[in-house]
Amino acid sequence: MSSSKKPNILFIMSDDHASHAMSCYGSRINETPNIDRIANEGMRFDNCFCTNSICSPSRAAILTGKYNHLNGVKSINDHFDGRQMTYPKLLQQVDYQTAIIGKWHLGHGGLADPTGFDFWSVVPGQGDYHDPTFIEMGEYKQYPGYVTDLTADFCIDWLNTRDKERPFMLMCHHKAPHRPWHPSAKYANLYDDIDIPEPDTFNDDYATKPQAVHEAKMRIDRDMNVLVDLKALPPAGLTPQEEKSWMYQRYIKDYLRCVASIDENVGRLLDYLEEAGIADNTIVVYTSDQGFFLGDHGWYDKRFMYEESLRMPFVIKYPKEIAAGSVTEAMALNIDFTATFLDYAGVEIPSDMQGRSLRSVLNGNVPEDWRTSMYYRYWMHLDQFHNVYSHYGIRTERYKLIYYYAEALGTSGSFDEYREPEWELIDLERDPRELVNVYGDPAYAEVIPALKTEMRQLQLAVLDEPVEEVG
Ligand code: CA
Repeated sequence: MSSSKKPNILFIMSDDHASHAMSCYGSRINETPNIDRIANEGMRFDNCFCTNSICSPSRAAILTGKYNHLNGVKSINDHFDGRQMTYPKLLQQVDYQTAIIGKWHLGHGGLADPTGFDFWSVVPGQGDYHDPTFIEMGEYKQYPGYVTDLTADFCIDWLNTRDKERPFMLMCHHKAPHRPWHPSAKYANLYDDIDIPEPDTFNDDYATKPQAVHEAKMRIDRDMNVLVDLKALPPAGLTPQEEKSWMYQRYIKDYLRCVASIDENVGRLLDYLEEAGIADNTIVVYTSDQGFFLGDHGWYDKRFMYEESLRMPFVIKYPKEIAAGSVTEAMALNIDFTATFLDYAGVEIPSDMQGRSLRSVLNGNVPEDWRTSMYYRYWMHLDQFHNVYSHYGIRTERYKLIYYYAEALGTSGSFDEYREPEWELIDLERDPRELVNVYGDPAYAEVIPALKTEMRQLQLAVLDEPVEEVG
């Protein structure tokens, strides 16, 4: 096969876009017609999970195909060591043109600058929504306009100047819809005249939940920075419940307005591929670095191993191989993306990469030995703003067992203060909304040791180490 026949790869990733704010995932709160085009023309993964639900660590896992204890990015404060092997570098070795445009968030300068890319133009840190600065191949340049539009503009500029005889891999990384949410002028008044439905678990009282849940500072009604996040103070005279609902509306509308810009710009890139006549030979992915709580359990943010945070949206199309409108329940992980792209590009997958190619799943043939459980680890402990305990756990098709070991263990951005370790068990079949911790329920006495054994096997298989377990 000549290199020109290798598929192009367009990897579009946003930041904190939960799947339950995408209409192809059945959103009750918005429409995403362009992202839906990818799902309609390809496959939707209903069980794609991140291995650590926070920005920089997920990005490092995607680039390397490895868990964070191996790629060195356990925390949002850790910088990526660009000497590591990544899939863009391996694609370059087989004649791909590579670029990353938009959000990097793995540090800047020296070893932390993007490597493995023929072209890179990334926003510093979290970046700005309006009139953002981009660092283009090391040079800082500010542009007038809205970051989501500009990111797509620069992607199209790069596609126009590429060598059309060679395949490309482009990472289009949107900053949006990361907090604090600033929509574009175009969508500033979207949803003005309607109320967005509140989620079923909006008023979760955490009655059986671990102390870790009670201590977390992610509650819409208590922990948001009202003026920064909501840009207004609640009207006087509201009851506490009315005030919480008011805050939710302010939050979710700006979040969804930011999503609307992403969706529009996904459409622009899809249109570009079609007009250029390369849609048939281009793999297109839309995903986000993790999920997000959209008022679920009364929260914003992520970090916890609960479904809204753990689940990544993942839709992918490649007309040559993937049946249009297909859906899979097969469990995929962010560390699988790298192996998948290498597989399509005909590159041997390095043995130390921990993910597995999704290509068989995408072809409609889930291998018999496909995983039925996954290992998760959130390393940051009591970070300054969200105060979540460090934890690890296992998710199987039916259960989720979480161990809040609650120690900093030297992880950057953590507060080195001990908390009593806690276990949580969720029966997803009986309790899909994850409202009840059944760890102490005698009905699960036989399930728990088996889950602990399986969790330990997964942990050791990815070369991680257990923390002393209590209780
Ligand atoms: Ca993120």
